[in-house]
Amino acid sequence: MTETVLTIVVPCYNEEEVLPETNRQLLEVLHEAVEANLISSRSRVLYVDDGSRDRTWDLITRFSEENGQVTGLKLSRNFGHQLALIAGMETAKEQSDCVITIDADLQDDVHAIQQFLVKFHEGYDIVYGVRGKRDTDTFFKRNTALAFYKMMEKLGVRLVPNHADFRLLSRKALDEFAKYQEENVFIRGIIPQLGFKSAKVYYDRKERFAGESKYPLKKMVQFALEGITSFSVAPIRAATYLGATFVIMACVMIIYTLVQYFLGHAVTGWSSLILSIWLLGGMQLTAIGVIGEYIGKIFKETKHRPRYIIEKNLFSCDVSKIKQE
Ligand code: UDP
Ligand code: MG
Repeated sequence: MTETVLTIVVPCYNEEEVLPETNRQLLEVLHEAVEANLISSRSRVLYVDDGSRDRTWDLITRFSEENGQVTGLKLSRNFGHQLALIAGMETAKEQSDCVITIDADLQDDVHAIQQFLVKFHEGYDIVYGVRGKRDTDTFFKRNTALAFYKMMEKLGVRLVPNHADFRLLSRKALDEFAKYQEENVFIRGIIPQLGFKSAKVYYDRKERFAGESKYPLKKMVQFALEGITSFSVAPIRAATYLGATFVIMACVMIIYTLVQYFLGHAVTGWSSLILSIWLLGGMQLTAIGVIGEYIGKIFKETKHRPRYIIEKNLFSCDVSKIKQE
């Protein structure tokens, strides 16, 4: 009998519509993996309620009463997908040999979990779930995602293309990941930096089972900006180069204008003047904005505020409830 304890961490934000089905499928997967002797029967599912305003927490507590393999964590408010994942991973780490993170909406194929575990037993510390097909995502989402991965690559940030937050981490990888105590977290940028032996498992991404995406356009843009500015200073550099180029151009213009003046040609047309004021003003504002973005980050980081607050924890207190083999 294998002693490998797995915890499946599932962030949930207003997911009452999908949760019963998700729970059913995840328990089935756990059961199959125990049968296949891949994990111990002490393995569990850990739902992280990220400040939901619907019945999500009620469902989680009910599932946990019904089955000792289900536990939950309730955050005190909505902290966002990434921090909910971190809260779950850090809590699960203490009593797990490996952790798998998966979204609550069943878009990721739960059957890939078995393959993750096989890879884990082969000695991989990190297993990435990679979407083979993205047909079910909208045209817009697919293409903006593609553009984002391309841009990150250009900026020198290592990402696993078409991999979201569906992955397995061994205890060793989790311990190292826990050392990244940054406030502005972009988990999928950090994980490849950990190193370790890693593998990919391909799966087809499905339609959301029920409910709607919690990532509207505004959040997607924020998330992309977070990814870029947390890992790269290229935008600051670009702003500097752009600024320098305009200063040089301005110098040339000044010389040209002076020459025209001494030659007796009146400087005509204020439109070019106005245009350059607008243009330069715009460029400067952009540059200030970019710099501000980073200063904002420094501001946030220096405060060392707690990244998340746990209001209720069913994970750490009910080990005795789990049936032993
Ligand atoms: N989620 C969360 N907190 C949030 C937003 C989302 O915990 O503030 C969870 C959500 O319940 C889901 C996962 O993060 O399990 C991914 O969200 P979603 O499926 O809405 O994103 P999409 O797949 O559309 O990018
Ligand atoms: Mg989803």
